[in-house]
Amino acid sequence: MYSSENIVSDARHLAPEIQKLRHELHRQPEVGLDLPLTQQRVLEWLEPLGFEVTLGQELSSVTAVLRGGAARDDAPSVLLRGDMDALPVREKSNVSYASQTGNTMHACGHDLHTAMLAGAATILADRRDQLAGDVVFMFQPGEEGFDGAGHMISEGVLEAAGATVDAAFGLHVMSALGTSGQFMSRPGPVMSSSAGLFVTVHGQGGHGSAPFLAKDPVYVAAEMVTAMQGMVTRRFDVFDPVVISVGVFEGGHARNVIPETAHFEATVRSFSRETFAALEQELPRLLRGIASAHGVDVEIELRPEYPVTINHESETAFASRAVVELFDESAYAQMANPLAGSEDFSRVLEHVPGAFIFLSALAPGIEASEAQFNHSPFAEFSDEVLPKGTALYTHLAISKLAELSAN
Ligand SMILES: [Zn+2]
Repeated sequence: MYSSENIVSDARHLAPEIQKLRHELHRQPEVGLDLPLTQQRVLEWLEPLGFEVTLGQELSSVTAVLRGGAARDDAPSVLLRGDMDALPVREKSNVSYASQTGNTMHACGHDLHTAMLAGAATILADRRDQLAGDVVFMFQPGEEGFDGAGHMISEGVLEAAGATVDAAFGLHVMSALGTSGQFMSRPGPVMSSSAGLFVTVHGQGGHGSAPFLAKDPVYVAAEMVTAMQGMVTRRFDVFDPVVISVGVFEGGHARNVIPETAHFEATVRSFSRETFAALEQELPRLLRGIASAHGVDVEIELRPEYPVTINHESETAFASRAVVELFDESAYAQMANPLAGSEDFSRVLEHVPGAFIFLSALAPGIEASEAQFNHSPFAEFSDEVLPKGTALYTHLAISKLAELSAN
């Protein structure tokens, strides 16, 4: 018989296996869209479960469909997503299962996501008779800037069970946020959109002693950098913020020579679709206006990366109730603000109702303020949270399918 307590004890029972899988993945981190070793390990785990498995064409994804035993022909379906890729970071953490590759690291905890989702696959396979519909497991490569979710959507992950899935849930562990083991989320925007800004100012070179005979692109580019911060505060709503940070600024090779060109690149973050649309208008207008004022040319490219991750209100409430049913009231915290990182699960949430939930995985005995954040070479994620994440994935699938089939 189904009860949420059983799920928690099933997940605890499976915890050593989940942890073993996580450590294996952590030792062999792979970056990008092509993760052959990780894919192989996931396939080995799923092999005995009897799912319908499809592999990606353009990327080493694994899509697995579990058909619920109690499902009708028009049964609902729920998607659970775990990303699997690592980062090009040299690991400096002290964990005994540290990366053995030398130049790649699971510094964002995606090894935990893969392992927790694999754990949920095992528990749900055992309970397939209790499922009022189908479960789609989305094991995704290339979250870290490669748009793996976009690729998997193009290749049909949302329709893997037949009709488009009715709901989708994703989890993300955090190494320096919250209280260890606590789930956190919020309705509405939960992570920012991101875009890359690439600007080249074409001036006219000359001798540094006679700038009036040249058209100094460095001066103009510098004005653009500061003017963008003015634009952020003067043109955008303080309650719908914009973040622009210039991380590359290049021009010239000698201190007394005015170069022909100057180039800068920035990351541009925002928290609503409307604000990003406004940025696409305002940024080029500002930069062109400054170039024109100084009589120089400018090339501008604003390259959208990930859209804003927007949690659906009812699904976020559903997920927070699921956490409380499994554990207790203190296991869920509503976030006051979104995070300014970005996430390609946003693509799934553009098509399907769902929610993205964070899980604090602070190493035992460490406060959030002292811990190293995701992506740090020192970041550590606690194994203790693995059964919790597995239990939540499992409970979300069972209870969401029950709700959908009752309606
Ligand atoms: Zn991540």
